[in-house]
Amino acid sequence: MKFSTKAIHVGQEADPATGATIVPIYQTSTYTQDEVGIHKGFDYSRTINPTRLALERQLASLEGGDFACAFASGMAATDAVMKLLQPDEHVVVSDDLYGGTFRLFSRVLERYGIEFTYVDMANLDAVRDAVRPNTRLFWIETPTNPLLKLTDIAAICSLRAHGSVVVVDNTFASPYFQQPLALGADIVVHSTTKYIGGHSDVVGGVAITSNRELFDALKFHQNAIGGVPGPHDAWLTMRGAKTLAVRMREHAHNAQIVADFLAGRDDVERVIYPGLTTHPQHELAKRQMSGFGGMVSFVLRGSADRTMAFAKDLRYFSLAESLGGVESLICHPARMTHGSIPKEERERRGVDDRLLRLSVGIEDAGDLVDDLRRALDATRVLAATTTP
Ligand SMILES: *Cc1c(COP(=O)(O)O)cnc(C)c1O
Repeated sequence: MKFSTKAIHVGQEADPATGATIVPIYQTSTYTQDEVGIHKGFDYSRTINPTRLALERQLASLEGGDFACAFASGMAATDAVMKLLQPDEHVVVSDDLYGGTFRLFSRVLERYGIEFTYVDMANLDAVRDAVRPNTRLFWIETPTNPLLKLTDIAAICSLRAHGSVVVVDNTFASPYFQQPLALGADIVVHSTTKYIGGHSDVVGGVAITSNRELFDALKFHQNAIGGVPGPHDAWLTMRGAKTLAVRMREHAHNAQIVADFLAGRDDVERVIYPGLTTHPQHELAKRQMSGFGGMVSFVLRGSADRTMAFAKDLRYFSLAESLGGVESLICHPARMTHGSIPKEERERRGVDDRLLRLSVGIEDAGDLVDDLRRALDATRVLAATTTP
């Protein structure tokens, strides 16, 4: 079965009780048992719920995995994966990381004795040097946010010692464009809030694996900690995921047009998109991904004031955090998603005050380009009169 067929059919059988073609929202916390312990496989909805189960089967199949655990958010999924570790165990992690993941690692998990080393994962020697005898987990985000840096997943997997696991946060690429399990990763994590849900109307997360032991441990923690999505949220995510293939094709198509347009402007200093030949890892992107995604970052010429004026002037790109919905969004990472990182550290990583990040939606590409052109022209005077 191919990707788009899986998205629509796996886990989506007609309801056995009624024949309902669409999986119902089983809005129930508990299940009536025939006798003590004799039931239809469902006992309590923190442990198992038919709507959530349908979502888990659908998402596992989209990543080419055997098992999935759905969570109430991407962060809850991340936390459950990290609960596989014991105190004094060590994690090698990408230094360009989703802010919420960095916060969980540095301000919560370190307090429980888990150790982290942050490295530039594009540099394999640095990764090799960071490995210690107690290294149990490699945490990869690729492409990263907001600089769209790539990590070679298969290369990191080749550094994995016995007993350690490689986890990939695949939120930015989506399973449509990148299949980490096939490249050797042990676990894939998503914030389904983004491309998988796809409509900016539900928060959720998932962890997917083909390793039975890892799944049993994840499932245990899903139930023991209880960060599960409600049936209505599970249902919305499942409905969104059915159209993932068509949406991702449009996102990538539009993003390439937007990136090409921006790269052709003399008042744009730098455009970052894995689909541009100027991206330093364009060759890796072509090898590792089947498409370049819908995220485009860029730096405008001129002052930070121009950057702000431009972002405010756009009509179709809402100024908002998050990404991956059908509508286009623009974000100013330094003041929004990455505001909690100290300025010096931020700039060391390349997130300066003139960097903007687009989540290119699936509106008409011509309308999006017209909008960008109009706002660029309207703020051009600020670009000419001020130097960075
Ligand atoms: C949004 C996001 C998360 C966190 O997911 P939530 O659903 O917001 O909890 C994790 N990783 C990446 C790459 C994200 O973009």
